[in-house]
Amino acid sequence: MGDNITERRRMTRNRMYRLIYNSKNGISKQQIAEDMGCSLPTVHQNIAELLEADLIRQGELQPSSGGRPATGYVTNDEIGIAVGISVSAKHIRFTAVDIKLKVLGTLKLAVDFASMSKTGKIIASELEKFIDDNSLDRRRLLGVGITIPAVIDKVNDIIMISPTLNVKNTNIRELVEKIPYPVYVDNDGTCAGAAEAFSGRRSDFAYLFMEYGIGGAIYMNGKKYAGLNNRSAEFGHICVHPGGLKCSCGKRGCLEAYCGALRFTKELGVSVDEFFKELENGDKDYEEIWNDVLSHLASGINIIRMIFDGPVILGGFVSEYIEPYLPKLREMAAEKNTFEKDGNYILLGKYYKNGGMMGSASHFIEKFIDEI
Ligand SMILES: [Zn+2]
Repeated sequence: MGDNITERRRMTRNRMYRLIYNSKNGISKQQIAEDMGCSLPTVHQNIAELLEADLIRQGELQPSSGGRPATGYVTNDEIGIAVGISVSAKHIRFTAVDIKLKVLGTLKLAVDFASMSKTGKIIASELEKFIDDNSLDRRRLLGVGITIPAVIDKVNDIIMISPTLNVKNTNIRELVEKIPYPVYVDNDGTCAGAAEAFSGRRSDFAYLFMEYGIGGAIYMNGKKYAGLNNRSAEFGHICVHPGGLKCSCGKRGCLEAYCGALRFTKELGVSVDEFFKELENGDKDYEEIWNDVLSHLASGINIIRMIFDGPVILGGFVSEYIEPYLPKLREMAAEKNTFEKDGNYILLGKYYKNGGMMGSASHFIEKFIDEI
Protein backbone atom coordinates (compact mmCIF):
# COMPACT_ATOMS: atom_id res chain seq x y z
CA MET A 1 0.00 0.00 0.00
CA GLY A 2 2.71 2.46 1.06
CA ASP A 3 4.73 1.48 -2.00
CA ASN A 4 1.79 2.15 -4.26
CA ILE A 5 1.41 5.66 -2.91
CA THR A 6 5.13 6.33 -3.29
CA GLU A 7 5.04 5.04 -6.88
CA ARG A 8 1.93 7.08 -7.67
CA ARG A 9 3.62 10.20 -6.33
CA ARG A 10 6.71 9.43 -8.40
CA MET A 11 4.57 9.05 -11.51
CA THR A 12 3.02 12.47 -10.90
CA ARG A 13 6.48 14.01 -10.47
CA ASN A 14 7.67 12.22 -13.60
CA ARG A 15 4.74 13.50 -15.67
CA MET A 16 5.39 17.00 -14.37
CA TYR A 17 9.06 16.76 -15.30
CA ARG A 18 8.16 15.62 -18.83
CA LEU A 19 5.74 18.52 -19.19
CA ILE A 20 8.54 20.92 -18.29
CA TYR A 21 11.00 19.02 -20.53
CA ASN A 22 8.66 19.30 -23.52
CA SER A 23 7.68 22.94 -22.99
CA LYS A 24 9.43 25.23 -25.44
CA ASN A 25 10.27 28.22 -23.25
CA GLY A 26 9.33 27.08 -19.79
CA ILE A 27 5.99 26.58 -18.11
CA SER A 28 4.35 28.17 -15.05
CA LYS A 29 2.87 26.39 -12.02
CA GLN A 30 -0.60 27.55 -13.02
CA GLN A 31 -0.18 26.10 -16.51
CA ILE A 32 1.15 22.80 -15.11
CA ALA A 33 -1.87 22.53 -12.79
CA GLU A 34 -4.21 23.13 -15.72
CA ASP A 35 -2.43 20.72 -18.10
CA MET A 36 -2.19 17.93 -15.55
CA GLY A 37 -5.54 18.54 -13.89
CA CYS A 38 -4.00 18.58 -10.42
CA SER A 39 -4.12 21.03 -7.52
CA LEU A 40 -1.71 23.94 -7.07
CA PRO A 41 -0.39 22.57 -3.74
CA THR A 42 0.54 19.33 -5.54
CA VAL A 43 2.36 21.35 -8.19
CA HIS A 44 4.14 23.45 -5.51
CA GLN A 45 5.39 20.36 -3.74
CA ASN A 46 6.65 18.59 -6.84
CA ILE A 47 8.32 21.71 -8.20
CA ALA A 48 10.09 22.09 -4.87
CA GLU A 49 11.34 18.49 -5.09
CA LEU A 50 12.50 18.88 -8.70
CA LEU A 51 14.31 22.13 -7.84
CA GLU A 52 15.92 20.48 -4.82
CA ALA A 53 17.21 17.65 -7.06
CA ASP A 54 18.59 20.29 -9.48
CA LEU A 55 16.50 18.72 -12.26
CA ILE A 56 14.73 21.98 -13.08
CA ARG A 57 15.46 25.68 -12.80
CA GLN A 58 13.58 28.93 -12.78
CA GLY A 59 13.40 30.24 -16.31
CA GLU A 60 11.97 33.36 -17.87
CA LEU A 61 8.77 35.03 -16.74
CA GLN A 62 5.79 33.66 -18.62
CA PRO A 63 3.49 36.04 -20.48
CA SER A 64 0.09 36.18 -18.81
CA SER A 65 -3.32 37.45 -19.78
CA GLY A 66 -3.84 39.93 -16.96
CA GLY A 67 -2.33 39.68 -13.50
CA ARG A 68 1.40 39.62 -12.99
CA PRO A 69 3.61 37.39 -15.13
CA ALA A 70 4.41 34.05 -13.53
CA THR A 71 7.76 32.32 -13.13
CA GLY A 72 8.37 29.67 -15.80
CA TYR A 73 10.25 26.47 -15.06
CA VAL A 74 12.74 24.84 -17.41
CA THR A 75 14.80 21.67 -17.20
CA ASN A 76 18.45 21.74 -16.21
CA ASP A 77 19.75 20.38 -19.49
CA GLU A 78 23.36 19.95 -18.37
CA ILE A 79 22.46 17.54 -15.59
CA GLY A 80 23.29 14.62 -17.85
CA ILE A 81 25.31 14.05 -20.98
CA ALA A 82 25.56 11.11 -23.33
CA VAL A 83 27.99 10.23 -26.09
CA GLY A 84 26.97 8.61 -29.36
CA ILE A 85 29.59 6.83 -31.44
CA SER A 86 29.13 5.65 -35.00
CA VAL A 87 31.29 2.89 -36.45
CA SER A 88 31.26 2.63 -40.24
CA ALA A 89 33.47 1.07 -42.88
CA LYS A 90 35.60 4.22 -43.18
CA HIS A 91 35.05 6.33 -40.07
CA ILE A 92 34.52 6.44 -36.35
CA ARG A 93 32.47 9.47 -35.35
CA PHE A 94 31.66 10.88 -31.91
CA THR A 95 28.87 13.22 -30.81
CA ALA A 96 28.25 14.38 -27.23
CA VAL A 97 24.82 15.73 -26.31
CA ASP A 98 22.97 17.08 -23.28
CA ILE A 99 19.59 15.68 -22.22
CA LYS A 100 17.84 17.81 -24.87
CA LEU A 101 20.12 16.37 -27.58
CA LYS A 102 21.93 19.69 -27.91
CA VAL A 103 25.31 18.90 -29.45
CA LEU A 104 28.21 19.59 -27.07
CA GLY A 105 31.01 18.28 -29.25
CA THR A 106 31.77 16.21 -32.35
CA LEU A 107 34.75 14.33 -33.73
CA LYS A 108 35.26 12.45 -36.99
CA LEU A 109 38.18 10.05 -37.39
CA ALA A 110 39.12 8.49 -40.72
CA VAL A 111 39.64 4.85 -39.74
CA ASP A 112 39.20 1.91 -42.08
CA PHE A 113 37.39 -0.82 -40.19
CA ALA A 114 39.73 -3.75 -39.48
CA SER A 115 38.28 -5.78 -36.61
CA MET A 116 36.01 -5.45 -33.61
CA SER A 117 38.84 -5.59 -31.09
CA LYS A 118 40.97 -3.00 -32.93
CA THR A 119 38.01 -0.67 -33.28
CA GLY A 120 37.16 -1.26 -29.61
CA LYS A 121 40.65 -0.17 -28.56
CA ILE A 122 40.57 2.96 -30.72
CA ILE A 123 37.13 3.91 -29.40
CA ALA A 124 38.19 3.48 -25.76
CA SER A 125 41.28 5.69 -26.06
CA GLU A 126 39.75 8.32 -28.36
CA LEU A 127 36.68 8.55 -26.12
CA GLU A 128 38.77 9.71 -23.15
CA LYS A 129 40.49 12.33 -25.33
CA PHE A 130 37.14 13.43 -26.73
CA ILE A 131 35.74 13.86 -23.21
CA ASP A 132 38.76 15.95 -22.16
CA ASP A 133 38.91 18.03 -25.35
CA ASN A 134 35.27 19.02 -24.93
CA SER A 135 35.53 19.53 -21.15
CA LEU A 136 32.73 17.03 -20.53
CA ASP A 137 32.04 16.13 -16.91
CA ARG A 138 32.55 12.37 -16.47
CA ARG A 139 30.32 12.37 -13.37
CA ARG A 140 27.42 13.45 -15.55
CA LEU A 141 28.05 10.95 -18.31
CA LEU A 142 24.93 8.80 -18.47
CA GLY A 143 26.39 6.39 -20.99
CA VAL A 144 27.97 5.73 -24.35
CA GLY A 145 25.90 4.50 -27.28
CA ILE A 146 27.58 2.81 -30.23
CA THR A 147 25.95 2.27 -33.60
CA ILE A 148 27.16 -0.30 -36.10
CA PRO A 149 25.83 -1.25 -39.53
CA ALA A 150 24.95 -4.79 -38.45
CA VAL A 151 22.13 -7.15 -37.62
CA ILE A 152 22.47 -7.71 -33.88
CA ASP A 153 21.23 -10.54 -31.67
CA LYS A 154 20.52 -8.50 -28.55
CA VAL A 155 19.72 -11.49 -26.36
CA ASN A 156 23.19 -12.97 -26.81
CA ASP A 157 25.05 -9.72 -27.63
CA ILE A 158 26.23 -11.07 -30.94
CA ILE A 159 26.71 -9.29 -34.24
CA MET A 160 25.05 -11.82 -36.53
CA ILE A 161 26.08 -10.22 -39.78
CA SER A 162 27.46 -6.95 -41.10
CA PRO A 163 28.06 -7.06 -44.86
CA THR A 164 29.39 -3.47 -44.77
CA LEU A 165 32.05 -4.31 -42.17
CA ASN A 166 32.53 -7.84 -43.43
CA VAL A 167 31.86 -9.33 -39.99
CA LYS A 168 29.85 -12.42 -39.03
CA ASN A 169 28.89 -14.05 -35.71
CA THR A 170 31.12 -11.89 -33.53
CA ASN A 171 30.59 -11.13 -29.86
CA ILE A 172 29.98 -7.46 -29.07
CA ARG A 173 32.25 -7.76 -26.02
CA GLU A 174 35.40 -7.10 -28.08
CA LEU A 175 34.00 -3.74 -29.12
CA VAL A 176 33.00 -2.50 -25.67
CA GLU A 177 35.13 -4.24 -23.03
CA LYS A 178 37.62 -1.37 -22.68
CA ILE A 179 34.99 1.33 -22.15
CA PRO A 180 34.56 2.13 -18.43
CA TYR A 181 31.03 3.61 -18.77
CA PRO A 182 27.59 2.13 -19.35
CA VAL A 183 27.51 1.09 -23.02
CA TYR A 184 24.68 0.38 -25.40
CA VAL A 185 25.20 -1.05 -28.88
CA ASP A 186 22.60 -1.14 -31.64
CA ASN A 187 22.10 -1.09 -35.39
CA ASP A 188 22.82 2.34 -36.92
CA GLY A 189 19.55 2.68 -38.82
CA THR A 190 17.56 1.57 -35.79
CA CYS A 191 19.26 4.22 -33.66
CA ALA A 192 18.63 6.94 -36.23
CA GLY A 193 14.96 5.95 -36.25
CA ALA A 194 14.97 6.08 -32.45
CA ALA A 195 16.25 9.68 -32.56
CA GLU A 196 13.41 10.62 -34.87
CA ALA A 197 10.90 8.96 -32.53
CA PHE A 198 12.55 10.63 -29.51
CA SER A 199 12.07 14.04 -31.14
CA GLY A 200 8.35 13.35 -30.69
CA ARG A 201 7.41 14.73 -34.09
CA ARG A 202 5.90 11.50 -35.39
CA SER A 203 4.88 8.11 -34.08
CA ASP A 204 4.34 6.26 -37.40
CA PHE A 205 7.08 6.33 -40.01
CA ALA A 206 9.57 4.34 -42.03
CA TYR A 207 13.14 5.54 -41.62
CA LEU A 208 15.52 5.02 -44.52
CA PHE A 209 19.09 5.26 -43.29
CA MET A 210 21.65 6.03 -46.00
CA GLU A 211 25.35 5.75 -45.26
CA TYR A 212 27.96 3.44 -46.84
CA GLY A 213 25.31 0.77 -46.48
CA ILE A 214 21.55 1.20 -46.22
CA GLY A 215 19.38 0.29 -43.26
CA GLY A 216 16.30 1.55 -41.56
CA ALA A 217 13.60 1.26 -38.96
CA ILE A 218 9.83 1.07 -38.85
CA TYR A 219 7.96 2.84 -36.09
CA MET A 220 4.31 2.24 -35.32
CA ASN A 221 2.47 3.97 -32.46
CA GLY A 222 5.80 5.36 -31.32
CA LYS A 223 7.33 1.91 -30.97
CA LYS A 224 9.84 0.20 -33.21
CA TYR A 225 8.58 -2.84 -35.06
CA ALA A 226 11.55 -5.22 -34.71
CA GLY A 227 10.38 -8.23 -36.67
CA LEU A 228 10.75 -11.87 -35.67
CA ASN A 229 14.54 -11.88 -36.22
CA ASN A 230 15.31 -8.24 -35.36
CA ARG A 231 15.67 -7.67 -39.09
CA SER A 232 12.67 -5.50 -39.88
CA ALA A 233 13.36 -2.56 -42.18
CA GLU A 234 16.56 -4.00 -43.67
CA PHE A 235 15.66 -1.81 -46.63
CA GLY A 236 19.17 -2.06 -48.06
CA HIS A 237 18.45 -5.57 -49.26
CA ILE A 238 15.19 -4.90 -51.05
CA CYS A 239 15.74 -5.95 -54.65
CA VAL A 240 15.31 -2.94 -56.93
CA HIS A 241 17.07 -4.35 -59.99
CA PRO A 242 16.82 -8.14 -60.50
CA GLY A 243 20.15 -9.54 -61.70
CA GLY A 244 21.77 -6.12 -61.24
CA LEU A 245 24.85 -4.90 -59.36
CA LYS A 246 26.37 -7.23 -56.80
CA CYS A 247 25.61 -6.30 -53.19
CA SER A 248 27.89 -6.66 -50.15
CA CYS A 249 25.45 -9.36 -48.94
CA GLY A 250 26.30 -11.55 -51.94
CA LYS A 251 22.97 -11.11 -53.77
CA ARG A 252 22.36 -8.99 -56.83
CA GLY A 253 20.29 -5.86 -57.38
CA CYS A 254 19.84 -4.77 -53.75
CA LEU A 255 18.99 -1.15 -52.97
CA GLU A 256 22.27 -0.92 -51.05
CA ALA A 257 24.28 -1.96 -54.11
CA TYR A 258 22.75 0.98 -56.03
CA CYS A 259 22.32 3.67 -53.40
CA GLY A 260 24.82 2.96 -50.61
CA ALA A 261 27.66 5.50 -50.52
CA LEU A 262 30.18 2.71 -51.06
CA ARG A 263 28.90 2.50 -54.63
CA PHE A 264 29.92 5.98 -55.69
CA THR A 265 33.00 6.21 -53.46
CA LYS A 266 34.43 2.82 -54.40
CA GLU A 267 33.60 3.04 -58.09
CA LEU A 268 35.16 6.49 -58.46
CA GLY A 269 37.77 6.43 -55.72
CA VAL A 270 36.52 9.66 -54.14
CA SER A 271 35.05 10.64 -50.78
CA VAL A 272 31.33 11.35 -50.42
CA ASP A 273 32.15 15.04 -50.06
CA GLU A 274 34.22 15.07 -53.26
CA PHE A 275 31.51 13.21 -55.13
CA PHE A 276 28.85 15.78 -54.37
CA LYS A 277 31.20 18.70 -55.06
CA GLU A 278 31.96 17.36 -58.54
CA LEU A 279 28.28 16.65 -59.07
CA GLU A 280 27.44 20.27 -58.23
CA ASN A 281 30.19 21.42 -60.57
CA GLY A 282 28.33 19.69 -63.37
CA ASP A 283 30.53 16.62 -64.01
CA LYS A 284 28.57 14.58 -66.58
CA ASP A 285 29.81 11.12 -65.47
CA TYR A 286 28.93 11.86 -61.87
CA GLU A 287 25.56 13.13 -62.95
CA GLU A 288 24.85 9.89 -64.78
CA ILE A 289 25.72 7.82 -61.73
CA TRP A 290 23.72 10.07 -59.41
CA ASN A 291 20.62 9.90 -61.64
CA ASP A 292 20.90 6.13 -61.51
CA VAL A 293 21.22 6.29 -57.70
CA LEU A 294 18.12 8.51 -57.47
CA SER A 295 16.09 6.34 -59.82
CA HIS A 296 16.81 3.18 -57.84
CA LEU A 297 16.27 5.06 -54.59
CA ALA A 298 12.85 6.14 -55.86
CA SER A 299 12.04 2.48 -56.63
CA GLY A 300 13.05 1.38 -53.14
CA ILE A 301 11.13 4.20 -51.49
CA ASN A 302 8.06 3.41 -53.58
CA ILE A 303 8.17 -0.21 -52.40
CA ILE A 304 8.38 0.95 -48.77
CA ARG A 305 5.47 3.34 -49.36
CA MET A 306 3.34 0.63 -50.96
CA ILE A 307 3.84 -1.67 -48.00
CA PHE A 308 3.74 0.88 -45.21
CA ASP A 309 1.58 3.77 -46.48
CA GLY A 310 3.25 6.25 -44.12
CA PRO A 311 5.94 8.92 -44.33
CA VAL A 312 9.37 7.76 -45.47
CA ILE A 313 12.02 9.73 -43.62
CA LEU A 314 15.56 9.97 -44.94
CA GLY A 315 18.60 10.00 -42.69
CA GLY A 316 22.27 9.03 -42.53
CA PHE A 317 25.20 11.04 -43.85
CA VAL A 318 24.21 10.70 -47.52
CA SER A 319 20.93 12.46 -46.74
CA GLU A 320 22.96 15.54 -45.76
CA TYR A 321 23.62 16.08 -49.44
CA ILE A 322 20.20 15.12 -50.73
CA GLU A 323 18.20 18.27 -50.00
CA PRO A 324 18.83 19.93 -53.42
CA TYR A 325 17.79 16.70 -55.16
CA LEU A 326 14.71 16.05 -53.00
CA PRO A 327 12.21 17.57 -55.49
CA LYS A 328 13.60 15.34 -58.24
CA LEU A 329 13.54 12.26 -55.99
CA ARG A 330 9.91 12.99 -55.05
CA GLU A 331 9.01 13.38 -58.71
CA MET A 332 10.69 10.08 -59.62
CA ALA A 333 8.93 8.28 -56.77
CA ALA A 334 5.57 9.78 -57.76
CA GLU A 335 6.01 8.52 -61.31
CA LYS A 336 6.29 4.97 -59.98
CA ASN A 337 3.35 5.30 -57.62
CA THR A 338 -0.05 3.86 -58.49
CA PHE A 339 -2.08 6.01 -56.12
CA GLU A 340 -0.30 9.29 -55.57
CA LYS A 341 0.55 12.27 -57.74
CA ASP A 342 3.35 13.63 -55.58
CA GLY A 343 6.14 12.30 -53.40
CA ASN A 344 5.64 14.71 -50.52
CA TYR A 345 5.63 11.79 -48.10
CA ILE A 346 9.44 11.65 -48.57
CA LEU A 347 10.96 13.81 -45.85
CA LEU A 348 14.30 14.64 -44.30
CA GLY A 349 14.60 13.56 -40.70
CA LYS A 350 15.06 16.05 -37.88
CA TYR A 351 18.48 14.62 -37.03
CA TYR A 352 19.42 13.56 -40.52
CA LYS A 353 23.05 14.62 -40.02
CA ASN A 354 23.88 12.54 -36.99
CA GLY A 355 20.70 10.61 -36.22
CA GLY A 356 22.39 7.30 -35.44
CA MET A 357 24.61 8.84 -32.78
CA MET A 358 21.73 10.95 -31.45
CA GLY A 359 19.54 7.87 -31.20
CA SER A 360 22.14 5.77 -29.40
CA ALA A 361 22.67 8.66 -26.94
CA SER A 362 18.92 9.13 -26.49
CA HIS A 363 18.77 5.54 -25.21
CA PHE A 364 20.45 6.77 -22.00
CA ILE A 365 18.47 10.01 -21.84
CA GLU A 366 15.17 8.15 -22.07
CA LYS A 367 16.31 5.85 -19.28
CA PHE A 368 17.35 8.85 -17.18
CA ILE A 369 13.97 10.54 -17.66
CA ASP A 370 12.07 7.30 -16.99
CA GLU A 371 13.77 7.00 -13.62
CA ILE A 372 12.96 10.53 -12.38
ZN1 LIG B 1 22.09 -7.05 -50.38
